[in-house]
Amino acid sequence: MVLYDRSALLDFPRFGIKIPALDSRKTRTMDTLHGFPDLAGRESEWLVDRFDDSITLEDLIRVHSSDYSRGFFDERAEDRFKTAFELVNSDGSFNRWEPENARSPLGEMTPLLMKMQAGTYRASKIALKGGFCHYLGGGAHHGHRDFGHGFCPVNDSALAVRRLQADGVVQRVWIIDLDAHKGDGTAAIFSGDDSVKTLSIHMARGWPLDGSLPPSHPSWTPSDFDIPIDSGEESQYLDRLYSALKDLKSTSTADMAIVLAGADPWEHDALPSTSLLNLTLDQITERDRMTYLFLEETGLPSAWLTAGGYGEESWQVHTRFLSWVLPRRC
Ligand SMILES: [Zn+2]
Repeated sequence: MVLYDRSALLDFPRFGIKIPALDSRKTRTMDTLHGFPDLAGRESEWLVDRFDDSITLEDLIRVHSSDYSRGFFDERAEDRFKTAFELVNSDGSFNRWEPENARSPLGEMTPLLMKMQAGTYRASKIALKGGFCHYLGGGAHHGHRDFGHGFCPVNDSALAVRRLQADGVVQRVWIIDLDAHKGDGTAAIFSGDDSVKTLSIHMARGWPLDGSLPPSHPSWTPSDFDIPIDSGEESQYLDRLYSALKDLKSTSTADMAIVLAGADPWEHDALPSTSLLNLTLDQITERDRMTYLFLEETGLPSAWLTAGGYGEESWQVHTRFLSWVLPRRC
């Protein structure tokens, strides 16, 4: 199944934010899938086009500190978003932010954020029932317990896991993070928690952005399986990922997996900070197929998230994988 609700979006232009995470990534993926010969006219078999779930304060507090969580619902919300979306430079100038062109103040983003993040929970429920769901959204892996950065105010994967555990429908989860950037928030949140195993394959350098954070900073917390890929090592990527997946399986069990299928390791990604990892479209498609088949063979349901992906063309990454996987499941 694909989960895509048009009302679940952060709508950056409404708030004057110029981050190049474009709606086209989802809309062009959907347009292509609707026209794909094996899928056209069969939408009821592969598409869920709305969900009503929202993240609540109670959900946030299972993952984030009480003070950090409550700040999204009072006058501190604007500062939460300024920090997480990196909208203000250290000299006070604005970064990818034109508040004069905003139609709404930043503090009004909270309800959109809560719905957007809830899609990961909904996708997980659909996956638990039917085996597979790809949510066109989610993957905010830089959200930490008491701060957000890297465009991630809160951590939707952690929110979904904790809510599913509270529901009593899962006990153990694997989070497999294929985004170009290290899943630092997820690693820190689940550090020392045996019920959730984290795997992150990412650029060896470049995140945190300037590498200048002190080693005690939570962003340096290792995942259970960290696979740093240096520039020029792209030919090793698939073998090293597969080896780590096998190690994950041989050392732990899970009731389901959440996969962050970021498009930003692609060589044509438009965000400058992803330039240190350059997979071809064939390599990134094989990444997704290999991970999918590994989880299928392991017998685990999986919820997939779009995570990072920037520029006009990143829809191609998701479309390649979905146009392969969906006909297999219809
Ligand atoms: Zn990323």
